[in-house]
Amino acid sequence: RLYGPERRNSTGLDLSQKAVRDSMDSALKSFRDSPAISAGAIVSGKTDTGGGDMVRVPFDTEHVLGACKEASPEAIDKALKAAVKFQPSWDKLGGAKRAEHLRAMSDILEENASRLIALMSREGGKTLADGVAEVREAVDFCRYYAAQAEHEFEGAVRLPGPTGETNHISLHGRGVFCCISPWNFPLAIFTGQIVAALAAGNTVVAKPAEQTPLVAFETVRLFQKAGLPVDALHLLPGKGETVGAALTSDLRVSGVCFTGGTSTARMINRAIADRDGPIIPLIAETGGLNGLFVDTTALREQVIDDIVVSAFGSAGQRCSALRVAFLPKSTAQSLIDGIIGAMNELKLGDPAEADTDVGPVIDAEAREILEKHLEVMGKEAKVLHQVDAGKIGERGFGFGPALVELKSLDQITEEKFGPILHVIRYDPDDIDEVGAKLKAKGYGLTLGIHSRLESFHNEVKAACPVGNTYVNRSMTGAVVGVQPFGGEGLSGTGPKAGGPHYLHRFANERVVTVNI
Ligand code: GLU
Repeated sequence: RLYGPERRNSTGLDLSQKAVRDSMDSALKSFRDSPAISAGAIVSGKTDTGGGDMVRVPFDTEHVLGACKEASPEAIDKALKAAVKFQPSWDKLGGAKRAEHLRAMSDILEENASRLIALMSREGGKTLADGVAEVREAVDFCRYYAAQAEHEFEGAVRLPGPTGETNHISLHGRGVFCCISPWNFPLAIFTGQIVAALAAGNTVVAKPAEQTPLVAFETVRLFQKAGLPVDALHLLPGKGETVGAALTSDLRVSGVCFTGGTSTARMINRAIADRDGPIIPLIAETGGLNGLFVDTTALREQVIDDIVVSAFGSAGQRCSALRVAFLPKSTAQSLIDGIIGAMNELKLGDPAEADTDVGPVIDAEAREILEKHLEVMGKEAKVLHQVDAGKIGERGFGFGPALVELKSLDQITEEKFGPILHVIRYDPDDIDEVGAKLKAKGYGLTLGIHSRLESFHNEVKAACPVGNTYVNRSMTGAVVGVQPFGGEGLSGTGPKAGGPHYLHRFANERVVTVNI
């Protein structure tokens, strides 16, 4: 059974075409040559910029890309007032009209793809290939939720009932949604949260990650250029402790959508629970301690390829990334040798160069956490290999992909966000026991299985159920509407982004019964 209205995913840019590369090069050059970008709050279409924290390029910290002024308490208040006031008319507009806005937003993202990809590569340290995929994802979110808004948020649907009575159900925005997005998908998740909330009839106050405010700033400007009413979406950049805390404790916020760490999600959950007034939803997508189980029937080359892509792609900075690979005792050494060989083939360097596989990690704090973890692993477990950070470490936050062998899963408890892969030798006959141990960690985001036996697939899926299971392929890069994405337990509240049930969580349902 297929879910959802018919729709096509976007095709994205082909980096192998010269014209595409030329336009990317000129976009990249524009960030080197032009003056630093000055960003800040955007409230009712008006920008409040000038000064603020500097934004540096993670690959080259001497390169100041711009600065972002934190949203002031006055800006936050103004944004909330305007968002509250405009929301009823935005809701009344209906799903079909809102869908037109979302489609215009998707088109303008596509038209500006080169600049956005270049900016993500500079501000977020993303490779160009990751940037291409990210624009596609953002575009897909707009079009997927647009199609859903058109089908499910346009007018009321008649329900059955006794003669002499009519019953209708309709879906409406809850009010003002606060969207708090992460730096690892500064465009796709930022956009996805916003367009979901908007599609469902909410107005939005958005707080992007502190590390990537410039992508957010430029994106909101593009949305306004595409005709989105200026009171539907307000941008409030700043720190979690200040802007985030002010928003989540404000009674004018009727729902929060968050992607980031589990501990931050808990903090938000407590903040909204502590408020007086209505009880509001939190849609949180958090981390994972994602495992991959290999058995002896798996194809060696494919396993190695998929492990390396899943663990080290995007410098391991995806919540879907592979963290622990369970390798059969009998083939483990050969697989480990292959993984090390493949790690040595990775091209580390400037994410703005088309053939770079691994760029920098996002900032000094992220690198420090990874370094500390590797140090502990060196004492308690065994660091099998680490690729030299080389060029990415010269002036930026370089961290070479590393491979660690654990004696048991007890040696790690939480997600470390970066290119460190742990391996464990195990006996596939013990899958129930080993899988149960992984499940007991409490996360439930992604799971990989490499085997040619369906019975083994079923055993692994039963032992550690998660939100997204990938069999005989890599474990990252969920496609909107194709692999709705999100986990359970410590990994998130659901529903899944880019899936058929997501918008409903942003909505109120109303039923009207009329005695005729
Ligand atoms: N949706 C992304 C993927 O499938 C991961 C999102 C995240 O890291 O938050 O790889």
